[in-house]
Amino acid sequence: MNKLDVPYKIYLDEKEIPSSWYNVRADMKTKPAPLIHPGTLKPMTFEDMRPVFCDELIKQELDNDTAYIKIPDEILNFYKMYRPSPLTHAVFLEEALGTPAHIFYKFEGNNTSGSHKLNSAIAQAYYAKKQGLKGVTTETGAGQWGTALAMACSFFKLGCKVYMVKVSYEQKPFRREVMRTYGASVTPSPSMETEIGRKINAEHPNTTGSLGCAISEAVEVAASTEGYRYVLGSVLNQVLLHQSIIGLETKAACDKYGIKPDVIIGCAGGGSNLGGLISPFMGEKLRGEADYQIIAVEPASCPSFTRGKFAYDFCDTGKVCPMAKMYTLGHDFIPSANHAGGLRYHGMSSILSQLYHDGLMEARSVEQTSVFEAAEMFARVEGILPAPESAHAIRAAIDEALKCKQTGEEKTIIFGLTGTGYFDMVAYEKYNDHVMTDYIPTDEDLAKGFAGIPNINL
Ligand SMILES: *Cc1c(COP(=O)(O)O)cnc(C)c1O
Repeated sequence: MNKLDVPYKIYLDEKEIPSSWYNVRADMKTKPAPLIHPGTLKPMTFEDMRPVFCDELIKQELDNDTAYIKIPDEILNFYKMYRPSPLTHAVFLEEALGTPAHIFYKFEGNNTSGSHKLNSAIAQAYYAKKQGLKGVTTETGAGQWGTALAMACSFFKLGCKVYMVKVSYEQKPFRREVMRTYGASVTPSPSMETEIGRKINAEHPNTTGSLGCAISEAVEVAASTEGYRYVLGSVLNQVLLHQSIIGLETKAACDKYGIKPDVIIGCAGGGSNLGGLISPFMGEKLRGEADYQIIAVEPASCPSFTRGKFAYDFCDTGKVCPMAKMYTLGHDFIPSANHAGGLRYHGMSSILSQLYHDGLMEARSVEQTSVFEAAEMFARVEGILPAPESAHAIRAAIDEALKCKQTGEEKTIIFGLTGTGYFDMVAYEKYNDHVMTDYIPTDEDLAKGFAGIPNINL
């Protein structure tokens, strides 16, 4: 069955956990556009960002040049609780598909929070603690980021205040309780605790909230509470930097067994897991040392890359955050209720947006029902119940493997399996009951979101 001489699961040794993160910006010829101040339209400076973000994290955010940034020992020690994560040779999936392709997946769901988000949560909590802060605020949509941050804050004894999109707060009570068990306070958003929350509630009395709204609330509270800062689980450059641990471990495992990927696939919400997974490979591509086909997979219901505009836009509904140049559907865009909560953000990492714009990676969108078909097949043959977000990558990997079956090509495909789906059983229930729908926004729907994108040409 196993056509390659590699173990089913490749576990690196604890000592082989990379000791530095890799900053792909250092090798990019066209750097990602800087965050700009919405008032002055000037690039955000260190001083501009200090009221909201932790000092060391701002430095990482602004650093386009240092290729390797050492991981502090305290963070490495925490990583050892659940890293290195396995790179698995999906032999059962290959067999089920009857494909000549070799399929591998890097599994990031082996920790209580159930996703890759802990890789950045622990780093951000560490730098907040080191700066002597009392706590951090954040938003969470589906709940994975909030859970990861709650775990990280409890480890470093930091306060943690989470604004959770109201619809998720109500539909995912167990996620909320995991966060509270780790000591976080969880508030449904929009709340009546903040100015922006009160405003949004007054304008839209029955709103169930959105990520963009929750971000505005968390930022407002961080900026107005002494000893608090705001942290974000995706999109930002610093988050992609921390997530590079995924790609560095993947590369080390590949090198150890002589595996040469042809295709690398990841799901894309704000871009952090994909950015992390591809970083070292993209580095080789940018330096002209190797070539890879890199594919971002997004939901057809929230198609930032495949149908969005590359423009400066606000990162949040309340327009309290700096603006980023990215592929965006517009900060007012509210995607239809799809079941991959972690992929519903209107924008995309500036780093990935630039790489995509420069033709260094591709993107495709997939429909929800076909994503769950892939999830179900994967669960049945490989055993892991995937998060709906992760299943977008599974879908594309299966499609690539089936193409190989047609052409007879023996490609090596690696995809990121970002997490587990135990808290997503309402979505699985819809799929199992055949009542899941595939909503795809029309051009008119998208035009409404595009209308809100400010006209900035820098
Ligand atoms: C948050 C999340 C994602 C999407 O976020 P990115 O920043 O695009 O990686 C994907 N999978 C899981 C399991 C998540 O929790």
